[in-house]
Amino acid sequence: KAKRKAIIAGNWKMNNTPAQTTALINEMKPLVADADCEVVLCVPFVDIPAAVEAAKGSNIKIGAENVHFKDSGAFTGEVSADMLNELGVEYVVIGHSERRTYFGETDQTVNLRTLKALEKGLKPIVCVGETLEQRELGYTETLLKFQTKMALTNVTAEQLKNVVIAYEPVWAIGTGVTATADQADEGNGFVRAAIAEAYGDDAAQGVTIQYGGSMNAGNADELTSKENVDGGLIGGASLKAHDFSVIVKAA
Ligand code: PEP
Repeated sequence: KAKRKAIIAGNWKMNNTPAQTTALINEMKPLVADADCEVVLCVPFVDIPAAVEAAKGSNIKIGAENVHFKDSGAFTGEVSADMLNELGVEYVVIGHSERRTYFGETDQTVNLRTLKALEKGLKPIVCVGETLEQRELGYTETLLKFQTKMALTNVTAEQLKNVVIAYEPVWAIGTGVTATADQADEGNGFVRAAIAEAYGDDAAQGVTIQYGGSMNAGNADELTSKENVDGGLIGGASLKAHDFSVIVKAA
């Protein structure tokens, strides 16, 4: 398997209060301390200070679940990259399917957020993935390549080194239906091929591409053993310290 940096990133979604954040990270810290992969927890904005404090001195990096594409201004309810940087955030999830489905996120806003994150030194975890309908119509490759290229529009080759992509088939997120290891590998391969088309094969070989969608303690080993699967973006299973640590050990 290629030597790429594997990243296991939790995506807590809208779960855990600040107090619960402190307790869960304290529980997780010893369990993931000997990880070979990079360990990240992407948490709700208001939990970030508690998460950064609890993770201090450990190998857990903290991420946010979104970031706005402007520096500041009249964007009620949004959070800027400077705000996240000041709190000690390193990663940020961009374009999660829940944001695309429920909050009007488009390929264009995903691209703008990605560009702003990179400009400000945050590492974007950009989510792409097909719906079940798109898969059944045979559009998976086309869709994944299009979403990947749209997300990376105007991203320089130098900036690409800080980009993480998460292939998350929409039909597998939060459903308990996991892609087979071969489907995950194939999807990640389509993403890597799109990056190769835009930046060349060498650059594409260096990009960490995660799989996400009902990855859990029981299937993480098989999924992450695949050539193109460089870790995972973990929703439900990142809310349980033991399960998350098993996934971290698998990667
Ligand atoms: C996610 O939210 O990115 C995700 C993959 O969720 P789950 O693991 O719960 O399917």
